Amino acid sequence: MSDYQKIIEHIHDDLLRRKSYGEVASYIPELAHVDAEKLGVSLATVNGDYFGVGDWQDQFSIQSIVKVLLLSMAYTKLGGQLWQRVGVEPSGTPFNSLGTLEHDKGIPRNPFSNAGALVISDILLDLYDDPRQAMLDLLKNITGDKSIGFDPIIAASEKAHGYRNVALVNFLKSLGNINNDEEVVFNLYLDCCSISMNCLQLARTFMLFANHGQTLDGKTHLLNPSQTKRMNAIMLTCGFYDEAGDFAYKVGLPGKSGVGGGIVAVLPQHFSVAVWSPRLNEKGNSYRGLKFLEQFTTETEQSIF
Ligand code: GLU
Repeated sequence: MSDYQKIIEHIHDDLLRRKSYGEVASYIPELAHVDAEKLGVSLATVNGDYFGVGDWQDQFSIQSIVKVLLLSMAYTKLGGQLWQRVGVEPSGTPFNSLGTLEHDKGIPRNPFSNAGALVISDILLDLYDDPRQAMLDLLKNITGDKSIGFDPIIAASEKAHGYRNVALVNFLKSLGNINNDEEVVFNLYLDCCSISMNCLQLARTFMLFANHGQTLDGKTHLLNPSQTKRMNAIMLTCGFYDEAGDFAYKVGLPGKSGVGGGIVAVLPQHFSVAVWSPRLNEKGNSYRGLKFLEQFTTETEQSIF
């Protein structure tokens, strides 16, 4: 048994012994049905090894984690031109904030806010004939797993209750930063948020960002090394909404969270690690996911710093 397996098992067991805090996201009603006590971890290395513990093979809703993939799909085609429509500054605001948009003339501060991801979804509609299929093809090519797909129940639940996202996409449209029909953009974004994956699939997918933008076998090449560097920089500074500074301070890895309770983080040229635990702290990030990663980088002394 490798050291990584021992370490993740020991931190997993430690966390289960300690009380967990926070609430499961309920503003998307379907997400509230998940078992709050689930905890899974998977780590994949650039050598092709992988490890897992707890509920690492259970699928969960990746939610905002998909924003990294949406951005990558746009960035690979548009390059730096993309930054005319969305910035790369940490927002310091909650994920669904409308607050700064008017002042910023409809240019979202970064692509990992909901506003930013809606603009990216709009861009993808112009770049791809069928962006949904392009997303599924990408995931299938990376993981080799054809079963990964959208969850129509989660998507429908969020579409029926996504009042802030409706407001955001309309506000962006009024400010001139949405080209396509606002409902089409809203539906694409929420379909992508509904994708279900398990921790191993997620760790394997994010291996792209640990491996210069390509899969380990070199067959899928999404980003070049310079673009990959920039993607990791945006994950580090913007991946955790108004808790990005805290995550960088405590964990020291680029990463992205989602309100389904998933967090995925990478140590470039080494590994990618996915944690899932549905209880969220007050900033919308997984309480145990954060604790796990903090303990992991502290004990292994492996982080980007
Ligand atoms: N689909 C969610 C929303 O737009 C994603 C939020 C998140 O995971 O942070 O509200």
